[in-house]
Amino acid sequence: MIPASFEYYSPTTLKEALDFLSSREDVKILAGGQSLVPLMKLRLAKPRTIVDLSRIPDLNYIREQGSRIVLGSMTTYEQIETSALLQAKCPLLPQTAAVVGDVQVRNQGTIGGSLAHADPAGDMPAAILTLAAEMKAIGPNGERWIRAEDFFVGLLTSALEPDEILTEVRVPALNGAKTAYLKAAQRAAGFAVVGVAVCLRLDQNGSCNNLAIGVTGVGDKVYRAEAVEKILLGKRLDANFIEQAAREVTRGVDVIEDINGSKEYRSHLAGVYTVRAVKAAMQA
Ligand SMILES: Cc1cc2nc3c(=O)[nH]c(=O)nc-3n(C[C@H](O)[C@H](O)[C@H](O)COP(=O)(O)OP(=O)(O)OC[C@H]3O[C@@H](n4cnc5c(N)ncnc54)[C@H](O)[C@@H]3O)c2cc1C
Repeated sequence: MIPASFEYYSPTTLKEALDFLSSREDVKILAGGQSLVPLMKLRLAKPRTIVDLSRIPDLNYIREQGSRIVLGSMTTYEQIETSALLQAKCPLLPQTAAVVGDVQVRNQGTIGGSLAHADPAGDMPAAILTLAAEMKAIGPNGERWIRAEDFFVGLLTSALEPDEILTEVRVPALNGAKTAYLKAAQRAAGFAVVGVAVCLRLDQNGSCNNLAIGVTGVGDKVYRAEAVEKILLGKRLDANFIEQAAREVTRGVDVIEDINGSKEYRSHLAGVYTVRAVKAAMQA
């Protein structure tokens, strides 16, 4: 389990890091190393050059900015899980970070790494999609913002270009919206066989006037369960109705099949976890 040899750079400015990315071939960014290093040890990734972001200042923060909260891409799961600001204003992120892997993974793994890796079973991507977050990428041509719905392109593929660095994630302050993230975790590493993130608002009569549901582990990338959202929006959410709607959670999705579950099992589990996550959000 020893990686192939590589050159290691540890720049102290973003500019230096960007210069490395554009001037060398076959370069990989290193953040928390919780996905990249295992892949390198298995020799599924053999980058010639590694650019470590850990010594670049000001990539690790959680700040309020008007009606939004911004997170530096090197912010760890642990920092997200324990952030009083996020717990008060965007609880879906701490709820999600709290169930990623184990303590070691949460201490090292970063929000930027998790999103850039675009694992189809990643927890954070489901929350980010549900929150309609935006990601800031900086590259040789300057900076651009990418909406969550455009960010996750396919299996382990994000919208980032190889010479771009994800520097910031911007989420809305939720001001009273109710949220939950629940997953059926596979036992070995804790990855989601199915994970469902929910963000909803109920009006005074108990009708749902705002709803987003993000699903991970089911398709080749995270997705919004729009069919379920459409059925539930504007309605009072009683148990039977939620169950009926949740049957549509895999509509239009090519459900994956692997050692953790068949298509049928995953589809069933997605329905069950959609019901549970909607109910958990209502009670949050
Ligand atoms: C034992 C174990 C259990 C795990 N369980 C879970 C789990 O339950 N749920 C879950 O969601 N994940 C799980 N993971 C994966 C974990 O969440 C990773 O931390 C995360 O996927 C990657 O974040 P990182 O900071 O470690 O990134 P790295 O591993 O350093 O990088 C990952 C990828 O993103 C790229 N990258 C990193 N940062 C940037 C950036 N700022 N800009 C552009 N590209 C960048 C890298 O080049 C690399 O391709 C687990 C991992 C392990 C080892």
